[in-house]
Amino acid sequence: MNSYRMRDLTLKELKCYLQDNQTIIIPYALCEQHGHHLPLDVDIRNAEFCADKLSEALGCIWAPVLNYTFSGGMLPGTINVKPNTFSNMVGEIIESLTLQGFRNFIILPGHGGSESLLHLKESLRILKWLNPALRDTLILLTQIWDFSPTWTRLFTEHDYHAAEAETSLLLHWCPEVVRKNIVMDVPEVAERLRDDPDSYQLRESFTELKQEIVQTSQRPDVKIGVMGYPERASVETGKKIEAEFLENAVPALRKAIADAEEARRTGKRIIHEDQQKLKIRSI
Ligand SMILES: [Zn+2]
Repeated sequence: MNSYRMRDLTLKELKCYLQDNQTIIIPYALCEQHGHHLPLDVDIRNAEFCADKLSEALGCIWAPVLNYTFSGGMLPGTINVKPNTFSNMVGEIIESLTLQGFRNFIILPGHGGSESLLHLKESLRILKWLNPALRDTLILLTQIWDFSPTWTRLFTEHDYHAAEAETSLLLHWCPEVVRKNIVMDVPEVAERLRDDPDSYQLRESFTELKQEIVQTSQRPDVKIGVMGYPERASVETGKKIEAEFLENAVPALRKAIADAEEARRTGKRIIHEDQQKLKIRSI
């Protein structure tokens, strides 16, 4: 096999692959605004580059990137698909691949929006609940930033969307698409977005009752939507994030796949008595 991209393989090559490897990476992302200095497809590039490197390190193939999900941003260039549609799509991709013999799914988000991640996680839990064909599947929702201490640290320093981390990664992977002119929103808006990245959302209700579903839109004062410090970006930081991701994710994922294989063979399962620690937390 001379490529880890599933789409490059022939039927014969894929059948041959499945005989001794049932693992596949499913990357997803979307087009959305990333300021004036980065193209709309940052998250797609993020998913593609990481899937490519990870697949090589793990010796497994990656499925074509799913290019549509939910962002919530409303500036031009952002294509929002409802979380239900997106989560169903990922679920159906997994069901289809399971029918072909795949057992281990590494979902790789290139986009970090909490709404899509939370919805996807709960939707796949229910899919596994209702579809016995998925009982033996291992599905891992693998966020790149979880495996990079540098990226995680940048979050704690209020660096989020289209800022130091994402700009550094693109400077490392494809510097030709990074524009020189960094433009920020007016200072008070830029600062508010650093303090709380969800503050691009305007949430309105008629009452104070917690039972009311709030109306959400994008605040009209957010014109650019960069959240953090893109001017601090560097090739070195991009390289470091990629290296940390591979260094930490590869052994963790290898072990998870080996554990799942062992569990399928022996019937061993972990029963969770402590439901609290399994609760989905916002990201
Ligand atoms: Zn992004």
